[in-house]
Amino acid sequence: MVESGESLQTDFYHPLGETSWLQFVAVKLEDGFALTIRDITPSKKFEIQLQEGNRQLQLMANLDGLTQVANRRCFNDYLEKEWKKHLQQQNPITLIMIDIDYFKLYNDFYGHQKGDDCIYRVAQGIAMIIKRPSDLVARYGGEEFVVILPNTKIEGGLMVADLIQSTISSFSIPHEKSTVNPYVTLSMGVSCLIPDGKKTSKDLISKADKALYKAKNQGRNRIIKEEK
Ligand code: GH3
Ligand code: MG
Ligand code: MG
Repeated sequence: MVESGESLQTDFYHPLGETSWLQFVAVKLEDGFALTIRDITPSKKFEIQLQEGNRQLQLMANLDGLTQVANRRCFNDYLEKEWKKHLQQQNPITLIMIDIDYFKLYNDFYGHQKGDDCIYRVAQGIAMIIKRPSDLVARYGGEEFVVILPNTKIEGGLMVADLIQSTISSFSIPHEKSTVNPYVTLSMGVSCLIPDGKKTSKDLISKADKALYKAKNQGRNRIIKEEK
């Protein structure tokens, strides 16, 4: 600092009684320097609280309150980001759309509170399966979920969907009113695309949606992949 003439400013964490943050400012003074030390504990505490608050807000804005998985907004942002990346790198991206079967009947029979518990357990079950850090599970709507699998071909998506199905089936959540199974089941639609300039991420969603619609029509409790 003495050689370059540039002044220095650094904050130090040094807990000592009421004081825990000190700011050192060093300024060149003739052939030496002057050092000022200030207690900046109050403003530092406020700054840290603010950062923590922002982090919490950021987290809350992206998390679904009931299920503690990502929410729809987070899904939209992430899919858009990944879509652009995959367009550049020309890699396949896979999407799984999941819907709980006969959930209206479940709610009507077991009540809304039990319905909420069921949605929570299904979300946690899906989240258990998803292991790669780049994969994302999100709540898409009421009893609907989506899984984004970056750099994954349709075969990989079908394997993950199979695992989700067997995991939820192993939970054996009773569903007396379902006509397909005495336990809670899922229908799933799986789609995969390598992005090009003509397609958008909406195409990936609508393909998965169509496949899910088919799974429902063909009797529910099944996984259907998109048509070519
Ligand atoms: P399908 O097999 O065709 O999917 O039939 P479904 O009854 O599951 O489908 P539908 O879309 O008719 O009903 C979904 C029901 O999910 C409607 C609503 O009662 C319930 N639901 C949506 N969001 C929530 C929620 O946050 N909590 C609870 N408890 N129920 C919800
Ligand atoms: Mg639905
Ligand atoms: Mg449903």
